[in-house]
Amino acid sequence: MAPRPSADRVVELAELVRTYKDAYYNGQPLVTDAAYDALEDELRALDPENAALKSVGAPVVVTEWEKARHAIPMGSLNKVVNEAELRQWAARCDQLGAESSLAPISNDLLVTEKLDGLSLAVNYERGRLVDAITRGDGHVGERITANARRMKGVPARLPEPITVSIRGEIILKLSDMKIGFPGTDAPPRNRAAGTSKRYDGAGCEHLTVMFYDLEGGDTEYATEREKYVRLLQLGLIVPPFEVTDLEGALRIHADYASNKRAALDYEIDGLVVRANDLRAQQLLGELGDRPRAAVAFKFPSLAKISRVVAIAWETGPTGRVTPIANVEPVEIGGATVQFVSLHNVSNVDRLGIGVGDEVLVSRRNDVIPYLEEVVVKHGPSVTVPTECAACGGELGRRGEYLVCTNRECRAIVEGRIRRWVGTQDILELGDKLIAQLVEAKLVREPADLYRLTVEDIAGLERRGTLVATKVLANLRAKLPLTLPVFLASLGMDDFALETAKLLVANGYDTLEKVQAASAEELAALKGMGAIKAKSVVSGLASRAEEIQRLLDAGVVPVAPSAGGALSGKSFCFTGTLPRPRKEYEELVVKHGGTVLSGVTKDLGYLVMSDPTSASTKAEKARKYGTQCIDAAAFMALIEAADRGAVGDGAPAVGEGTAGAD
Ligand SMILES: [Zn+2]
Repeated sequence: MAPRPSADRVVELAELVRTYKDAYYNGQPLVTDAAYDALEDELRALDPENAALKSVGAPVVVTEWEKARHAIPMGSLNKVVNEAELRQWAARCDQLGAESSLAPISNDLLVTEKLDGLSLAVNYERGRLVDAITRGDGHVGERITANARRMKGVPARLPEPITVSIRGEIILKLSDMKIGFPGTDAPPRNRAAGTSKRYDGAGCEHLTVMFYDLEGGDTEYATEREKYVRLLQLGLIVPPFEVTDLEGALRIHADYASNKRAALDYEIDGLVVRANDLRAQQLLGELGDRPRAAVAFKFPSLAKISRVVAIAWETGPTGRVTPIANVEPVEIGGATVQFVSLHNVSNVDRLGIGVGDEVLVSRRNDVIPYLEEVVVKHGPSVTVPTECAACGGELGRRGEYLVCTNRECRAIVEGRIRRWVGTQDILELGDKLIAQLVEAKLVREPADLYRLTVEDIAGLERRGTLVATKVLANLRAKLPLTLPVFLASLGMDDFALETAKLLVANGYDTLEKVQAASAEELAALKGMGAIKAKSVVSGLASRAEEIQRLLDAGVVPVAPSAGGALSGKSFCFTGTLPRPRKEYEELVVKHGGTVLSGVTKDLGYLVMSDPTSASTKAEKARKYGTQCIDAAAFMALIEAADRGAVGDGAPAVGEGTAGAD
């Protein structure tokens, strides 16, 4: 290997780029743009993957956002809520258009998604980002340029040196919410709004901006569609768009309402339908700041008013107390909602909610009910408890949460044992038996389970030797636990199986390594995020003694890839398979392989009922050279693994050659 003479230069360049970028992002550039560009170009040529090219600059210290006036006001749209109203709007457009001798406007409409986020105008001068201003009241917004620079989809530089103002929506994708803000299910819109205005910019890297309009620039546009195409050319993210007629718009709306909307990775609250022809838009003009030639075609509301009957405070396995509102049963989107989580005590304070209040309850994305707001207040706000409902112990505050401080709290102990048992799917060890074991003080923590005797269990009410023997056998049959299962079973805050797997996949494959990791180190892992990293480290520290007692009891986690026959191989399971997906996944992990949730370039095998299928997933897999196999072939692979016959290049599964030992 020849030495790389440019290595020193790379280090030097990376440092310069970082320094200058930080200065630039803080509004105090140290060099001219041209000089900076030259350095960046040189670094890119020598080391295209260098982290300095991707870093977003040092945090900016802001104590108040400057107010800024929009050169062109950001208007809003009139709304329609059903087919009849859309037809009415279209007919009116056609009529107004006819007065100006235009062809029917309803034959040439552009339909796109109405993103449920926060509007933002981003200004570029000669291709450089200079300004990002929130919508505000449409005329004056807040200049959040420093934060906007951190968001996905907002390039610091456009590929062309044009001066242009582009408009879009700051959204928080559901997948990014899971990563960046684990354990919350407030509407992403609220999270996006709060985060985008944080003075320290924390979390803005999880936000995305999708663009839908541009003003200025070098080009004349004749249609709305041309503007979208231009945005795409500039490398910007735009929502899906389609040019169609009125019937087409109705069809698209129906399609979104029935399935497309629920499958999106972000929330939308309707479609935007507008005249595709910009001249028509101009001729029709505005009425009270709202364009006549455009309309927001909303989806049926998934929110209804109900009344609070009671508010309960439930202590969970981590000690966190979750306030839950019991509301008068109300039907939303085909399901009856009666209990609505209020998440944490801070949220209760914010809502100022009390028994008797009329509240707006929604089911966002058709899943978890959410209490949006108090609509009419009818009584005093609820008193925040000082004692745990489960044990009477004192409640303390930890961040946004109330927590039970009693280490022996029944709710915490039972919750933890249930988590331990549930994560491992230990049969026969149900909630009732767990309650009995805790009540009898036989079990205080997971380690105690492994010291139980047949007599201990058989001595409990309505339990016998038979059950006792089965329970203990099932418990032991799961050993040894793989490291991810061990960690996830502990039921720590923000530390589910996915997180544990992520750690192992990144080389933290022993308990020692995981325990030694720092929050900064973990925060740098892709898919982790600073908040989760902090939770992981503090969770492990606070449970160190409990973990030691598990090790002492003989529950020692093993690295999933330690010599497993499927080590280095990855699998993704899709569609209906003969056995529950979880069983297949367990087999993979047990044999040292990894389970991926989707098709990526690195995926080795896609397991599906019909490997010849032309589904999107299968097509994508074939494109990447991933093998598509069925469940039988997968099982053959496992059997071969059990016989020690799977080598590095053993793709010929299920062809009768797998057993060649
Ligand atoms: Zn308690």
